[in-house]
Amino acid sequence: MAALNGMPCLDIPLGIAMDPQMPSWGKSGYVRRPKSSVTHPGTHTRWWTQSQRCMPAPAGTKPSPTSSPGPSPDILKSPLIIFVMGGPGCGKGTQCKNMATKYGFCHMGLGQLLRQEAQRSTRWGQKIHDIMLQGLLVPTGIILDTISNAMLSRPESQGFLINGFPRELRQAKEFERIVGRAPDVVIVFDCSMETMVRRALHRGRLEHRADDCESAIRQRLETYYTLYLGRSSSREHFCQVLLGR
Ligand code: ADP
Repeated sequence: MAALNGMPCLDIPLGIAMDPQMPSWGKSGYVRRPKSSVTHPGTHTRWWTQSQRCMPAPAGTKPSPTSSPGPSPDILKSPLIIFVMGGPGCGKGTQCKNMATKYGFCHMGLGQLLRQEAQRSTRWGQKIHDIMLQGLLVPTGIILDTISNAMLSRPESQGFLINGFPRELRQAKEFERIVGRAPDVVIVFDCSMETMVRRALHRGRLEHRADDCESAIRQRLETYYTLYLGRSSSREHFCQVLLGR
């Protein structure tokens, strides 16, 4: 295990066999090397945890015009919040499903939630559909609404795996403002561009996912490499910022 400025960080192969104590990681900042083997060749994950949660945003913080006023943060204070990040086709959806099953967490696949929204014949549904088809980012206000609605609909959940979030720092800052705290854990999936493209194209053929076509994949990769990877001095630094350090 490597330490990043006191923050535990671990390079682990996918097919994660997390310790059953995992829900306490966020509180203790403790990470244990998993025992299982790689089930997703070509991808590795990195975990960052925090031992301290962020303070709620100061009273009187000016709300952003794009975001919702936000839910009552009270019921969201205790569950574990895990951000899951990675490029298109890196395997984050598959592994989130595994983790949700194994640990009883609520899996919030943003792409999936947005695809459901995009099927509705409302003005927003059509707009989301068009944006996704181009491989662009859906406006942050819609993303935060989607997340907070999904979280509030599962108040009993011990933990939330927020898959595909954030795609840029601004989203994380908005999340913290609305929910009142930073995530407990950030998981980043490391995967080569060639593997991601190959998998996404394959998935597009298999699942008839309209945005898994070449042009949209190219755009999503560009967003991933510029907004997320490109704008921070290092990935470690980006994750530290997400964790509110
Ligand atoms: P992938 O990770 O392969 O791009 P997803 O299913 O996670 O696939 O996302 C599909 C699309 O949903 C994205 O291209 C984007 O348009 C939209 N989307 C998902 N998550 C976000 C987010 N956090 N912010 C903005 N748009 C998002």
